[in-house]
Order: sequence, then structure tokens, then C-alpha cells
Amino acid sequence: MSDVDGTLCRIVDRPDRAKVPARARESLETLADHLALVACITGRPSPVARKMVGAEKITYFGNHGLSYIRPGQDRPTVVIEGEEAERARNFIRDNDNPFWVTAKIRIEDKGPIQALHWRGAGHRTEEIVRGIADHAQSAGLATHWGRKVLELRPPGMEGKAGAVDELLDGTEIDTVVFAGDDRTDYEAAVRLRKLAEDGRLRNLTIVAIDSDEGPPELVEMADLVVAEPEEWIDLIEDLARRATESPAGATPTE
Ligand SMILES: [Mg+2]
Repeated sequence: MSDVDGTLCRIVDRPDRAKVPARARESLETLADHLALVACITGRPSPVARKMVGAEKITYFGNHGLSYIRPGQDRPTVVIEGEEAERARNFIRDNDNPFWVTAKIRIEDKGPIQALHWRGAGHRTEEIVRGIADHAQSAGLATHWGRKVLELRPPGMEGKAGAVDELLDGTEIDTVVFAGDDRTDYEAAVRLRKLAEDGRLRNLTIVAIDSDEGPPELVEMADLVVAEPEEWIDLIEDLARRATESPAGATPTE
């Protein structure tokens, strides 16, 4: 299980210009032939993530656990629907004003999640975003801080922790490698660690991609810390190579 932005590719000022290296796609495809599950868990919508990563044989859990798209599916399966799904969008509609644009706040419409980005803007913008966060909370929305991004979410969303539960539910998967770089990944990692403590998972490896902006807790709890996405992709390549060397269907043990 891997996050995408900041994990399979570097974070860039314009999210639409982020690029996942071809060697990552190829290795993920190879792994998909040998493992019970290969999944990307991301803050982007699942179809966007699939286009971006490009691997057809893997599962994409999008918008921090909101919808997933499995190999061969055309449309994502949505976990949250109806009125709840519209709450954040309605808040933006009622509160957006030209001042936000002047402050270099960019709104990304992720459906039920609305993201306010301010990468490249100054300290004052962060203060403005804090004000918006307070307002959103009093309007009953959940706020979630990431790397130069504030997300407004419907309350009760379990985020990536919910996504890992959903992915493992009904499977016999007992060995998981999980990689991420941000706060939402930390929540998923905490959930996975709990599943390991409860005996639901036998083997768990948490990989953290270290950055100045990421949560120190993730790095502290990780079994393995790498400095950048390329290093995590090296490990994926290595896993893929081992998978092809072992008998079909066998899980690499190291
Ligand atoms: Mg990330």
C-alpha cells in the first residue's frame, strides 16, 4: 500500500504537474501479478490517481478513503454519498470570496473533500487559512492539515485509516508494507500497527518518506525511513524483482 504524492513522486507547486516515474508503474504492475493486493491510497480522486500512476492492475483508494477503483472497473465505488458528501462543497460555495484568490489560496474540488492549497504563498496566507479552518469547524466540518494544504471534510470520515480497513476487510492478507509521507498516512499507519498488535496482521513494515513538512510522528514510528520518493521506488523495484524470482503466487519473505 502506497501513498502517491510525496511518496511515489515529488511534490511540486502545481499538483497537476506531479509525475510518477515509469519504473514505479512497471514495478507495481509486476507486484500485482504476484501479491494478493497492490494499492495506492491517496488524497486525489481514485480515477485521477489511476491516470497519474498508470498501473492498470492495481487498486486505487482515492480522496483519503472516500472512493476506490479496482482493476478493470470503469467507475469508482463511493464510500460516502448524499447530503454528507455535499457539505464541504456547500461551505466553499457560501464562503469563497475574491480575497482568497488575492491571498494565493487555490481551491481543489475533490468532491466531498475540498482542499485549500497555499504552497508558494506567504505566512499571512496561512493565518487566513487558519481563520477559514475555524469557521469550517464551527460549520460542522472536519478540518485536516497536510503539507501546505487544508482539507475540509464531512465529519466522521475515517480517512486513510478507513481505507486500509476496507482494503483488508474480507481478505486473508496478513503481511503489509505501507508507505507514506504525510499526516493522513500516519493515521493509516497507526491503524495498521493496531491490527498487527491485535494479531490481525503477522508482518507489517511501515515506510516513511521523510520531509521537512511531514509529521515527525510518522518518521518516529516507521520501520524504515527513506529520504525521497526515488528511494521508495528503489524498494518497490527490489520487491518486484524478488517476486518474479520466487515461485508464482509466493510472497517474498525479505
Ligand atoms: Mg503524500
